[in-house]
Amino acid sequence: MQSSEQTEKRATLRLRIASTAEWKVRSGHPWIFADSIKSQNRAGAMGELAVVYDKWDNFLAIGLFDPYSPIRVRVLHAGKPQTLDDAWWSERFANALKLREPLFDASTTGYRCIHGESDGWPGLVLDRFGDTAVLKIYSAVWFGQLERIAALVRERLPVQRLVVRLSRNVERLGAKEKITDGAILFGPAIEELVLFRENGLAFEADVLKGQKTGFFLDQRENRVKVGELARGRSVLNTFSFSGGFSVYAARGGATSVTDLDISAHALEAAERNFRRNSADTGDCRHELVKADAFDWLKHARDQFGVVVLDPPSFAKKESERKNALEAYARLATLGVARVEPSGILVAASCSAHIGAEEFFATVRSSARMSGRKFTELETTSHPADHPAKFAEAAYLKCIYLQF
Ligand code: SAH
Repeated sequence: MQSSEQTEKRATLRLRIASTAEWKVRSGHPWIFADSIKSQNRAGAMGELAVVYDKWDNFLAIGLFDPYSPIRVRVLHAGKPQTLDDAWWSERFANALKLREPLFDASTTGYRCIHGESDGWPGLVLDRFGDTAVLKIYSAVWFGQLERIAALVRERLPVQRLVVRLSRNVERLGAKEKITDGAILFGPAIEELVLFRENGLAFEADVLKGQKTGFFLDQRENRVKVGELARGRSVLNTFSFSGGFSVYAARGGATSVTDLDISAHALEAAERNFRRNSADTGDCRHELVKADAFDWLKHARDQFGVVVLDPPSFAKKESERKNALEAYARLATLGVARVEPSGILVAASCSAHIGAEEFFATVRSSARMSGRKFTELETTSHPADHPAKFAEAAYLKCIYLQF
């Protein structure tokens, strides 16, 4: 009896899914929802490998099983039958690094190494900041793989430590596994600020407590563009966080930069980042404003040569879409009013629930309603170290308008 129970436990978890979900898996979509599972041979445990079959019992995919989430399986591999052995994991890791290799030289030591689903690691992010790697876990299916990942990081990345960060939804399950947010998986404790370089500029990342993994690496290319547009102009950087856009703008020859954020903590980091790059920021004036961006913009009278609007996500769920679009419209209207003649508005959105085209349309419509003439310089999306390979993964978009 006991031995048959053990055999039962060891039997591979096998799922059969509805034919409607099949084509999505075949076309590379990484999520299998609970309601598309037709049958399974036994109850599955958190994070175990599940093998997925179509209704004719043909192999479809292998993924990590989550008995609690509506996303029941996060697909790791689809196509031909495949064993996920050490060599497979090692190659998957190497593939992610290979994609980044040609993108950066020694002037950039902060970049994303693994960008979740679109790199084949659903629910997982790995960033490098100089000598520190940060693993962010968005799904509890990964708790069982931490040792493996730590070994791969240690072997293949030029870092001396690995920090693990937990998104709020997995903290409780993390505690059960004795993994806490900010734990160090290997390497020395963090005694000083973690520093890294981005296009030759020096920044700090608050890897233990900061939002996401401690820095918004995804805006690197927009920061470069703002740096190029800033020459001879004053720059207002709203939702500045640690002042990334401003440091680039100052290096690019801005006459003054103003960082505006609601968080004193963010502004302190912005001040340090600005000072840290004094050799490049020259005599550019730096101002800090602690305020709610909407309130401040409503009452502001000054105009600026470049106005950057890069707020946090306004739509965390589908049901918040309508309010989010209204908020983007309001923000763009307030931003446009602060752009001086010939000046530039840079408006970004990081809401996955808002599509790029509807965001751009919203900003253009606010610009038109101002009655001012403007031309569209360009729109941008994901940088290459943050690939987005399916619709739900695309979250970042940015539009540049000149008035
Ligand atoms: N532009 C930044 C990232 C912005 S993250 C960069 O390139 O690094 C969003 C920032 O908005 C956070 O720092 C947060 O503190 C700030 N924030 C959130 N709500 C705000 C509000 N109502 N007014 C001003 N800042 C706000």
